[in-house]
Amino acid sequence: MTNEKSPSQVITYINPELTSQENAKPGRHVNLPFGYGPIPDKNSKIFFFDIDNCLYQRSTRIFEMMQVKIHDYFKTNLNLNDEEANKLHLTYYKTYGLALEGLVRNHEINALEYNSKVDDALDLHKVLRYDIELRNTLLEIKQSGKFDYFWLITNAYKNHALRVISFLGIGDLFVGLTYCDYSKYPIICKPMKEYFLNCFEQTNLEYDKEVLENQYFIDDSELNVKAAFNLGIGNVIHYVEVESDLEKIKAKPDFEEYYGNGDNKDHSKIKILTVFKNLPKLIDL
Ligand SMILES: [Mg+2]
Repeated sequence: MTNEKSPSQVITYINPELTSQENAKPGRHVNLPFGYGPIPDKNSKIFFFDIDNCLYQRSTRIFEMMQVKIHDYFKTNLNLNDEEANKLHLTYYKTYGLALEGLVRNHEINALEYNSKVDDALDLHKVLRYDIELRNTLLEIKQSGKFDYFWLITNAYKNHALRVISFLGIGDLFVGLTYCDYSKYPIICKPMKEYFLNCFEQTNLEYDKEVLENQYFIDDSELNVKAAFNLGIGNVIHYVEVESDLEKIKAKPDFEEYYGNGDNKDHSKIKILTVFKNLPKLIDL
């Protein structure tokens, strides 16, 4: 087993929106030693973390801020009224898992231009704080020695991912990032199988039952956790922050198939996490 990294692979990022005082805190500087992959050693034990609405709470209302920007983008660029824009946005989100996917496929929208007007235009500084509790929770898991690596896995473009983790102060806890490459066509995003296969390639995991059984994945999206589960990732955690969402998930006909009783006792099923700081306990640390 080798553990060498090529220097060109390292991704570092210092958030220019933060003051030098803010940037002095641990974890503000992003340092991803294996960048966008590959991890040099094969079949490690990896904890994959989704970012948006998973490492920060929905009460930040970043999702809503994003919806406003996306809505405006649909209206302006496709010449739609509010109702038409809403409808199309929802249709694309449900069909592709990402509104942008529908824009690129059906309207030849330049995805990077879209990204600059939507994700990169969000005033994250206003809503994302240095999160010491999150940092300590992740550090507790990291320091347990149970995992070889922490890896980020997002449907956002890379800029957004780097900004978010620097604002949160956790930029030093992960070795790399799989992001949604908006410069490619068609766009490959979660929950598509190709997205996960690409992620396994970047993290040097064989697409093999025994290897995947060993891996951990947390996400707030029902579509994504079900896709990860179907692919054979052995430890899938669904972060469900809002009680009413949990009730909706429980009411679905396939609930038992994916979640068992929903009491997290069946280790072959998806586990549900409702309070992020309880993650160490949920994974039996
Ligand atoms: Mg998410």
